[in-house]
Amino acid sequence: MSETMAQPRVAILGLGIMGTGMANRLLSAGFPLTVYNRNREKSAPFADAGAFVAESPREAASRSEIILSMVGDDAASRGVWLGEKGALAGARPNAVLIESSTLSGAWIQELAAKAAERGGRFLDAPVTGTKPHAASGELVFLVGGSAEALDAARPVFSVLGRDAVHLGPVGSGSLMKLINNFVCGVQAASFAEAVAMIDAGGLDRAKAVSILTGGAPGSGIVKRMADRIAAGDFTPNFALRWMAKDIGYAIDDASKNGISLQTAAAALSVFKQAISEGHGDEDFSAVSNSSKKRSNS
Ligand code: NAP
Repeated sequence: MSETMAQPRVAILGLGIMGTGMANRLLSAGFPLTVYNRNREKSAPFADAGAFVAESPREAASRSEIILSMVGDDAASRGVWLGEKGALAGARPNAVLIESSTLSGAWIQELAAKAAERGGRFLDAPVTGTKPHAASGELVFLVGGSAEALDAARPVFSVLGRDAVHLGPVGSGSLMKLINNFVCGVQAASFAEAVAMIDAGGLDRAKAVSILTGGAPGSGIVKRMADRIAAGDFTPNFALRWMAKDIGYAIDDASKNGISLQTAAAALSVFKQAISEGHGDEDFSAVSNSSKKRSNS
């Protein structure tokens, strides 16, 4: 994607795994950047790199034409957008307000209505891609909202992503993201159980896994998990508890349309067990460790 207009002032709310990569990208591209993070320690490196560190989401929003939130879940999103110190209180009329976290459809609709009351142009624009893609500007934005707001946001999306796909009105991006992630979650849970079965049955793990990854079950998510399991490295690119959160939101959203996501429900119970065993802050691929314990118990 190419840049089409002068660089607007941007605020990034949330400097977690993804927000950090995105903020660094914008700084490298020379955007005037304001950052906000609940835990101030994560903001310090950005001050050194030339960003303005805001005391509150409200202050960050008041300094910016484009405001992008990248936080954990619905509660975190409420925390940065709402209230006296929230971004909506500081946003100028006509600002572009982007929610890129993976959130429930119900909250996205509520937030969009509140943003409209403030005169903001709202987009839900969750992303596919993970930590390295955020750092290298290779995310794909799944966008819901008006074409006009998307055009206004393109200078930012073009630095952070390799594509921004317009899926329809507000909520469409979030719906697509929840569908994407519940399918990933189901595959991850079933692969974890496959690895447990391989081990319990005494098969050579490397050989067996390479048959799966090289064959029909070898999706991108399964391959990523296989690499992590082989390396024994579960430092998070995408935290296991966020995968569980996404599966839960997908189940809730689907049920509102009368659809029962039975495979997602089964996957969610596998992920919840992994969280109860202390794997929630590890990479989602650590769900394989939980299944292994169950098969050995
Ligand atoms: P993360 O590293 O866990 O960071 C979470 C961020 O949310 C931190 O900045 C955290 O602030 C903030 N936060 C949490 N609760 C909050 C609250 N109540 N009020 C204000 N801020 C709060 O998560 P991440 O991996 O960057 O993911 C961010 C979002 O992107 C999630 O919705 C995730 O599902 C989605 N996503 C992630 C990936 C991935 O591969 N990592 C890929 C696609 C989409 P503190 O530092 O103060 O805790």
